[in-house]
Amino acid sequence: MAYWDWFGDGRVAVADIGLACCVVEFEAASLGRTRVAEPPPEATIAIVVAGTVTDAVAPLVRDIVANQPRPPVVISFSACACAGGPYWDSSVVTKGVDQLLEVDHYIPGCPPPPGSLHAVLEGL
Ligand code: SF4
Repeated sequence: MAYWDWFGDGRVAVADIGLACCVVEFEAASLGRTRVAEPPPEATIAIVVAGTVTDAVAPLVRDIVANQPRPPVVISFSACACAGGPYWDSSVVTKGVDQLLEVDHYIPGCPPPPGSLHAVLEGL
């Protein structure tokens, strides 16, 4: 999986799990940032869950987070990832990624603006 050295100083390495339209907002936020194959050794790792989590992909999401080199900060990015979004009443949609994982930061919105992700990352 690829990471972004978000501030270019090795402090915060960010990866996304892009599941639906909100991945476009993540891509917008990451424009111009440095992509790296591995997180820098001292970096805080942040995993951004962007979009609609379904019950089918939920185990994969959990595995990706569990297999990080060190425990990551988990950011739930989108109304969908926070609570199911407009699909909250679908029988196949997980009603929030916090049903699988401990979430550190919630960024709701359909979609949330890219700057809202940057603001959270600045605080890490
Ligand atoms: S919150 Fe809205 S824009 Fe984002 S993935 Fe869900 S439906 Fe798409």
